Amino acid sequence: MTQLEYKLHIDSIIERVEKARLRVSGHHIVKIVAVSKYSTSDEIRSLYEIGQRAFGENKVQDLAQKAEELEALPLEWHFIGNLQKNKINQLIKVNPFLFQSLDSLELAVELDKRLEVHGMKMDALLQINSAYEDTKSGVMPEAAIDAYQEIASTCKHINLKGVMSIGAHTDDKDIIKKSFETTHDIFSKLKGATICSMGMSGDFELAIACGSNMVRIGSLMFNK
Ligand SMILES: *Cc1c(COP(=O)(O)O)cnc(C)c1O
Repeated sequence: MTQLEYKLHIDSIIERVEKARLRVSGHHIVKIVAVSKYSTSDEIRSLYEIGQRAFGENKVQDLAQKAEELEALPLEWHFIGNLQKNKINQLIKVNPFLFQSLDSLELAVELDKRLEVHGMKMDALLQINSAYEDTKSGVMPEAAIDAYQEIASTCKHINLKGVMSIGAHTDDKDIIKKSFETTHDIFSKLKGATICSMGMSGDFELAIACGSNMVRIGSLMFNK
């Protein structure tokens, strides 16, 4: 793909997001996070040059490396992967724009302690396992509101901004839709939550129709 073809490809994705959000409402703004986990720093730079600012990584090590390599660019980094406790300090060092995958109260308490030591705060989303899949992280939907409120009231160094989910892993659209609706329903009940992050390359239009206002698009954005 030439640079121009790539730009047209990105424009076509933006147009799909635009159409999907306008079907919800003209006031429904959706942010695109480009998931760069399969991509190199050079590929991230090319996408930045087209105008993309927000990028997501799912491994702390990769996030740290790419953030360092691209330090000169004003990028916004999102962490979207499983955070092991022994990687907390590494994540704090990167100081991401948004930690989207906070998946338990226990992790929140541990992260909060370390943030306090470093005199820092971090914006985060509570990950909800709305597909009820063993392979996915996140709090169960039934426990999500309590967990959210508990973290918000006890973890003073974590600013909870909303929720994140990965859609059900199936070709059955109704089941995927149900998982998005479950997350959005929780989101709408949370006081002060502003971000509902759902939707990936294969299901972002459906996610937006269900109320998502942040999509995380990887393979499609990077043409993989
Ligand atoms: C990889 C990943 C994505 C992007 O997936 P694509 O299907 O490549 O768009 C989004 N969210 C999370 C949490 C991911 O791990």
